[in-house]
Amino acid sequence: MTESANVVTGQAREWPGGILQVRIPLPFSLKWVNSYLLQDEQGYTLVDPGLHTEQALDVWKQVLGQERIAFERIHSIVLTHQHPDHFGLAGWFQQQTGAPVYMSEASYAYTRRLWGEERSFAADLTRLYRLHGMPEELQDDIRDHLESFVARVSPMPNVSFIQAGDTLQMGSSSWLAIDAPGHAFGQLCFYDGNRKHMLCGDQVLPDITPNISLVPGEEEDPLASFLRSLQELAAYEVELAFPGHREPFADYQGRIHALLAFHDRRLAYILELLKDRPQHGFALCQTLFGARIAGNAHNLRFAMSETLAHLVHLERQSKVRSREGDGVQIYEITDIA
Ligand SMILES: [Zn+2]
Repeated sequence: MTESANVVTGQAREWPGGILQVRIPLPFSLKWVNSYLLQDEQGYTLVDPGLHTEQALDVWKQVLGQERIAFERIHSIVLTHQHPDHFGLAGWFQQQTGAPVYMSEASYAYTRRLWGEERSFAADLTRLYRLHGMPEELQDDIRDHLESFVARVSPMPNVSFIQAGDTLQMGSSSWLAIDAPGHAFGQLCFYDGNRKHMLCGDQVLPDITPNISLVPGEEEDPLASFLRSLQELAAYEVELAFPGHREPFADYQGRIHALLAFHDRRLAYILELLKDRPQHGFALCQTLFGARIAGNAHNLRFAMSETLAHLVHLERQSKVRSREGDGVQIYEITDIA
């Protein structure tokens, strides 16, 4: 829980275009999420405020104090996507500032399914994992872990919807909202064509590959959406990319191509493993992720859903097929694999 507490200091970093990067600590191996403050004459737009934890609030108070930014000066809150490490503090900031919170309708729907009063996501997800061979006790860990997020995204904000194709004034620039599904259905990236800046959310990250998850009630082939989205994003000329994690980076095209290549390799490797032995999704997940998922419900969920995303993608390409045995889906390669 606290492994990352001391790696993030409350120092904002200024980037070209007057963009302030604030690193907000996370209690996971990702270590921090990037929040961005964009200044205009009226005050600030806050992008992706972070997860609601005591440590995050400490960092925010320190940074806002150092930068002499009063809460009232934050007039808009914009979310790239719905994941709790980006969305979690939106409601808290709305309470402090009175600012509207903007996000896509699809992203908001996801937050209701995960953390709303009628939430059903944890039960649906563990049912899916059971079908793909995950042992019962690990399903319990995942259910408990998911439930622990409710406090970290509370209070929930009142939101206003934005959509792909909208132009948002943020800081001194106009930013085009671009649909960027795959990592999160409904995610938006924002492009400043004058400065050639891209706010990427978690779609294009330096050093790490964004998680692609099969989850119930979302896209049936999220990897296909992700790969298509990367191809679309590659059409934009970008000199500086502002990611949700790690540091802003210049080699935007290089990263997109590296991510496409990573998934090609991963799909090929899964076919090889299935050629050796037909198996269920959980067994494959253990081979692919090994020690990184042992005893860590957070990493296990990402690993399991990503393994399933690859499997359903291969199944849609008719390179693998699945059959049910003892209530569990077993995957095997087909003749065209
Ligand atoms: Zn994310």
